[in-house]
Amino acid sequence: MGGSLELKGVVAGYGGSDVLQGVDLLVEPGSITCIVGPNGAGKSTVLRAVSGLLPPRKGTITLDGEPIGGLDPAGVLQHGVVQVPQHGGLFPSLTVRENVLMGAWVLRRNRSLVRSRYDRVVETLPVLAEWADRRSGNLSGGQRRLVEFARSLMVEPSVVLLDEPSLGLDPASLKQVYDLVRVLNGQGVTVLLVEQNVRVGLGAATWAVVMESGRVRLSGPPAEVLDNPEIADLYLGGTISRTRRV
Ligand code: ADP
Repeated sequence: MGGSLELKGVVAGYGGSDVLQGVDLLVEPGSITCIVGPNGAGKSTVLRAVSGLLPPRKGTITLDGEPIGGLDPAGVLQHGVVQVPQHGGLFPSLTVRENVLMGAWVLRRNRSLVRSRYDRVVETLPVLAEWADRRSGNLSGGQRRLVEFARSLMVEPSVVLLDEPSLGLDPASLKQVYDLVRVLNGQGVTVLLVEQNVRVGLGAATWAVVMESGRVRLSGPPAEVLDNPEIADLYLGGTISRTRRV
């Protein structure tokens, strides 16, 4: 199984300031790794550094031992690492099928490959078959989030990056998004996600990472992190005691 992602001493930031102060993080292949921590800790910045949106200033990022740090997003994508976009990005006047097919734009000359990938994505997320002919502009916010997620799968990634997938979702859509995370993971895809919704994120995760001030403060099994009183008080708002699955 591929998808072992490792950051060592990663420094990255915006303008004159470093947000990531030397991030060391090992995302095990086949894991659902969830980064939590207070606002501004640098969680989204970690994802941006991995996906190629923000080149690291120092340190290394490797996938299965191969350096990917500093590649642009297209280069990172070629290595099988995809970040699911957070907002928008669907063409409202196109159907769901057309939007999902856009995820394999670079393969468009190979129609049979695109077709088989599409069929596989529909197998993974069967509700797409129901929505296939609907215009994307007529979908609810939660449905759009799922279609964007599905479109990212057309590249058959080995690692999927998700930034706050629960944000703004109604409970039913939230469940569908996390069900998809688990199905993909069951297929061997490594998932690295960032969540403000600690209960939901750590409820789905197999490994928890707590960030603070641009560094990894600690990592461990989600239940242990949730039960650590210091972590609960200082970083998770003090109200979280149990994991709750969605
Ligand atoms: P988190 O995801 O943990 O809330 P972020 O990685 O989004 O944290 O942000 C970490 C810090 O980087 C914050 O102080 C934020 O203000 C700053 N930051 C984030 N994005 C940008 C940007 N595009 N330009 C400048 N500063 C940014």
